[in-house]
Order: sequence, then structure tokens, then C-alpha cells
Amino acid sequence: MAPRRGGAYNDLPMDALRVHITAYGCQMNRLDAALVAEVMQAAGALIVADAAEADVLLYLTCAVRGHAEDRVFSNLGALAARKRRRPDLVVGLLGCMAQEHGEAALARAPVVDLVCAPGRLADLPDLVARARAGERPVALDPRREESDAGGAASDAALDRIAVGRAPGGEWPGQAYVVAMRGCDNFCAYCVVPYVRGPERSRPPETILEEARRLVGGGVREITLLGQAVNRYQAASGGRAWDLADLLAAVAAVPDLARLRFVTSHPGAMTPRLALAFRDVPHVMPHLHMPAQAGSDAVLRRMNRGYTAAEYAARVAMVREAAPGVAVVSDFIVGFPGETAADFEATLDLVRRMRFAAGFVFKYSPRPGTAAAREFPDDVPADQKRRRHQALSEAIAAIAAEENRRFVGRRVRVLVEGASPRPNLHAAGRRLRPGWGQLRGRTPCHRLVVLDGPPELIGREVEAEVVEAGAVTMFGRIPEE
Ligand code: SAH
Ligand code: SF4
Repeated sequence: MAPRRGGAYNDLPMDALRVHITAYGCQMNRLDAALVAEVMQAAGALIVADAAEADVLLYLTCAVRGHAEDRVFSNLGALAARKRRRPDLVVGLLGCMAQEHGEAALARAPVVDLVCAPGRLADLPDLVARARAGERPVALDPRREESDAGGAASDAALDRIAVGRAPGGEWPGQAYVVAMRGCDNFCAYCVVPYVRGPERSRPPETILEEARRLVGGGVREITLLGQAVNRYQAASGGRAWDLADLLAAVAAVPDLARLRFVTSHPGAMTPRLALAFRDVPHVMPHLHMPAQAGSDAVLRRMNRGYTAAEYAARVAMVREAAPGVAVVSDFIVGFPGETAADFEATLDLVRRMRFAAGFVFKYSPRPGTAAAREFPDDVPADQKRRRHQALSEAIAAIAAEENRRFVGRRVRVLVEGASPRPNLHAAGRRLRPGWGQLRGRTPCHRLVVLDGPPELIGREVEAEVVEAGAVTMFGRIPEE
């Protein structure tokens, strides 16, 4: 997004301060990065793309896995020399790690000047000003056992900033919209319910207003976000709303081309939502619904609330309502007590479900979670590594087979931009004058690389799939 000066707060000390934002982790953090940009610009700061030019470095961090945290601490450590040369440089630790470590982050990472939890991002201009005055402010969300209302109060401040917010998506025509914040599922391994607070759904009016503004500004595709977004629940206009209702309302925004939602929890998958894939126009045939494991014993220890058979039944229900839906899953390997037979059950689920894609993570104990408290981290690191590799390979092999079924078929591709690897698959082929290699996505979110004129960016085209791998399909625009 283009740097913008001014707004109503020009007299604040942020004026002309150059701010660089780095976001790690999930889509929620990418969206928070847009929110941070907005609040800092409203206070008069400039957002800069080059960290070397910045007066203020802000890190939106992820606490979901130990590895993600280690990376942030090591990147912060590497700033020490620069900070010695430039003592007025302000370094901020924002997001989930800020909430998790709190005050202690200041001792662990001495370059950090301010700590700001996800719900306190509206306070950033003030925190930066205090840091510049020599304080080391720490702004945290209330702990969930202390207050349920605290989260809701700061949400209103975040929603106010959202006015005018830039798309936080993968390409300018795509935008994420928060449907729900927080999580109440308490999967045994997961830190999210602690750092993001209790589950709360945003009112449909707020979501619709944001969707209309985004589409009015040129956005073609909206993805509704929530940790278990299919648990969406609101009351408005004298009736109860679930995610199916919300999808229908957002889908009706004129000129919206595509609508998606992530992430779905298998336990909250309803027949109504399955039918939304069939009945609500613009809802794409793409469901991210993590299984996490295929062994009932592991699923029980994970506190996931379903068995492998129940998971499979939910997938079958969706596919019966809408046969082409691409199902995507996450998996954790090496959860405490996972035996070879447990892992085999996960492989078996993968073979039966034929996922379009899957994300595999090695278990890492997170402080404060039930799993870290109750179970020793007893699967050896090399075993985790082997299972990670075997499962990733099994998922990729099936994804490639599924992708190859599209060869010779026509798909509708929403073109997102130039392909970042322009020479990919270029051998033996001549581009028409003025054409380039483009990338886009099918309705089921499969990546397609194809040749075409740049005017197609942001538009949907019919393409014939000529070749397919595990991740990318290659298409061509038919001659006629
Ligand atoms: N709310 C979403 C995503 C949560 S975090 C959901 O429920 O699907 C994204 C993924 O990280 C999870 O799906 C899980 O596979 C993985 N994950 C979460 N905590 C983890 C941990 N402690 N160790 C390893 N992987 C973890
Ligand atoms: Fe974590 Fe489970 Fe909530 Fe997802 S649903 S954020 S894995 S507790």
C-alpha cells in the first residue's frame, strides 16, 4: 500500500517517523500488519518497505510453535549492533508472542523497547511515543481467566481502525476479513486460546460494511477468517446468524467474485454449511478443515472432540452436497505418545480422504497448554522428522494425482498477477508478443500458471490444464 501522511492526528509526535512492519505466522497476522500500518499512518508515520531506512521496527509475531518463536528471538538478537549505532531506533514486539511473554520479553530480548498484545494494537502510537521518551511500555490483553469483557472492549477500538484499511491478502484483489477473534476450543497442544483470548464473533453489519468497502475498492475475492470460523454465531436483525447466513450475506455484495473461509473445525461442520458450497453463489469449493491426526487415541489426547471416522463422515457430507470441494488439512506429527501404529492411522486417513493439500507440523510443546503440562514430549526428534517427511510425501503424491485429473479439462482461473518464476516451464514455447507468464487460482484454490496478456490480471479466464504437479498446474488459454 502506498505511504500516506496525515489524517486527523498530524500533531502527534509520530510525524514523519518511518515505520517498518514484519509479520510472521498466520493470515490473522498479515491482516494485523495492515491494521498496524493504518493506525501508525493515521498518527502521521510513514510506512517504509526497507527495514534499513526505518526509525521504528515492528514485529508481528507468532507463538504457535517453538520454532516460530526462536526465529523471532534470533532476528531480534541480530539487531543489537544496529541498536548500538542508533540508540533512538525503536523495536516493538507485537502480537501473540507479546501476549505470551509479556514483560519477560524485555529481559530475554534487550533490543525490544515495547511489547504490545494483539488486542492493544490501537494503542501503538502512544506506546511508540513512550518508547521514544525512554520508557519500555508493555501493553497486554487481560488474561482470559481475569476478564471476558476486556477482549470485547479492545475489539471495538480495532474495528474503528479498520475503516480505510488496506487489503491484507496475497494479491491486491484479495482481502481477508475477520469474522471471529479468539478461540475456545483448547486443543491440548495449542497456545492460541491463551494468546488470542476468548472466542467472539463480529457483528454481521461490521463484516458486511467492511466487505462492501473492500469490493468497492476493487477487491474480487474475500476470505473470512476465524480460528474455528464455522463456529460463527451472532444475533442481528432479530435472528440468529451462523456461518452459512454470513456467507450468503457477504456473497450478495455486488461485484464480489469469490468467497472463501478459513479455518473450519470438524466438530462444527453442519449440513447447512455443507449445502452453502452448493447453494450460495461465489462460495468456492475449498474447505480448510484440519484433521491433525488419524488415530483416535491421539485425537482424544489432543482434545479435538472427534474420531477419525467422524472426521471422514464430515468430509463425506460436504462432498455429497458439493462433489468437487477440495479439502485441505493440517497435521501434527510426534504428538506425545504417538506410536508407529498411530502414525500409520494418520497415513491411512490421508489415503482415504485424498486431500488437495496438507500442512504438516512437528509437535512442539507450548508453555501453559494442557499437553505441555500433562504429557512428556516423548517422540524423539529424528522420529518426528521422519514422520514429517513421510506424511508430507504421501500428501504431495495424492495432491499430484488429484491435480492430474484436471489435465485436458477446462477450469476458471482468477488471474492474480505475473508468475514470480517467469521461466518456469518455458522450454520449447514461444510467448505471443505482449504476453507474459501469469499465475492464478482455480475455484478450489489450485495454483495455475499460464501465458496471457497482463490485462487479464484481476479477471477470470477459462483455461485448459495441460500439465499438473503436486502444487502447480500449467494451463493455456484456448485459441478460439
Ligand atoms: N485455528 C486453526 C489453526 C491453528 S494454528 C485450526 O484450528 O485449524 C495452525 C496449525 O498449527 C494447527 O492446525 C496445527 O496443525 C499446528 N499447531 C498448533 N499448535 C501446535 C504445536 N504446539 N505444535 C505443532 N503444531 C502446532
Ligand atoms: Fe488452536 Fe484448536 Fe483453537 Fe485451532 S481450534 S486455534 S488448533 S485451540
